[in-house]
Amino acid sequence: MFRELLFNLCLLISVHYLLRFTFRSWPVSTRGWSHVARLAAFSAAALTLMFFPAHLAPGIQVDLRAVPIAFVTLQFGPVAGLMVALPLLIYRVWLGGIGVYAAIPSLLSVILITSLVRRVVPPMGPLFWKHWPSIILMFLLNGVPVLFLPDGVRLFVQIYPLLLLLSVAGALAGWGILSERFHVLRLTSQWQSAALTDPLTGLGNRRQFDQDLTAMGSGDALLLVDIDHFKRVNDTFGHQAGDEVLQEVARLLEREGRGRDRAYRYGGEEFALILRNVQVGSLIRVAERLRSGVAALPLASIRGSVTVSLGGVQWAALMPEQLIERADQALYAAKRSGRNQACIWGPWLAQDHQPATETLPPSTTTT
Ligand code: GH3
Ligand code: MG
Ligand code: MG
Repeated sequence: MFRELLFNLCLLISVHYLLRFTFRSWPVSTRGWSHVARLAAFSAAALTLMFFPAHLAPGIQVDLRAVPIAFVTLQFGPVAGLMVALPLLIYRVWLGGIGVYAAIPSLLSVILITSLVRRVVPPMGPLFWKHWPSIILMFLLNGVPVLFLPDGVRLFVQIYPLLLLLSVAGALAGWGILSERFHVLRLTSQWQSAALTDPLTGLGNRRQFDQDLTAMGSGDALLLVDIDHFKRVNDTFGHQAGDEVLQEVARLLEREGRGRDRAYRYGGEEFALILRNVQVGSLIRVAERLRSGVAALPLASIRGSVTVSLGGVQWAALMPEQLIERADQALYAAKRSGRNQACIWGPWLAQDHQPATETLPPSTTTT
């Protein structure tokens, strides 16, 4: 019997290795069909363990099915645990035999205790094994109902210590595989978002911007925003104050975005905005709103305010480099016409990269 249970333990570790593939992203989503499929996989894993049991006595079979059920309960709650356990209970009743009367309360006890324990044990933290006393607790009543079967005491002494030992060992080994997976997914997601975020402002960084730029489509528009005479801010008030200004401007740009609009830190004191579903007429209005919004922003760190110049362009099926180039041309037109201006790209700007003329009126819209 020991050999059969040892085989069951090896099987348990193998199925947990496969179950880790049901966790593909962090945070783990508990919605949709992928979650249903995951729960079904846990059910199938536990059923597989039931197909290779140790035979204690006629009609009484023992295996480590409770381990995956406890994991689901710990991770997703008692309702999920019961759902996953249901096919097992049905299968066990179908198998029949006197052992049914011990098997069903045993499994229910694991779900019940685990759902209480999960208030204390954080669901699958990297150091979950430190909670080994709680893990023992989860399986403490598993197998105890055998006592109430004929010749129960002898059967209990024969199986209970071994079952408890292997259940806890199986939980530590199998869940270790899953918690390792969680750890990798968590780290990947943290580093991924760090790689795409500007640490000073919290906006998307240049890498994120480059990704999103290639995904622009019909009706979208690009705005480049550059703080005017920012060097003076640094020179006069220091870099610390300059950083705070960058943060305030970033917050405003983020606040002003709508729906799927997104703001980025493009570089130094330059920002970019990708706007969605914006008409040409609206684009200048948005740019103007941003310009006046920044100008009206009270900045405590410099006891005053700053202004920005903006250059905008409609997507118009342009390549990303062309979009940037045109937005840049518009931005420099705004700069050359006195700063604190918004300018939208028009063909007249493209001629030999001519800068905007001195006569360019403030806040010019050109299409
Ligand atoms: P213009 O109106 O023509 O844009 O003038 P400007 O002074 O804003 O532009 P310039 O390119 O001459 O200077 C940009 C300044 O932005 C210089 C640089 O020190 C500062 N800067 C860039 N990144 C940061 C940052 O992360 N923090 C701070 N405090 N300053 C930065
Ligand atoms: Mg600049
Ligand atoms: Mg500048």
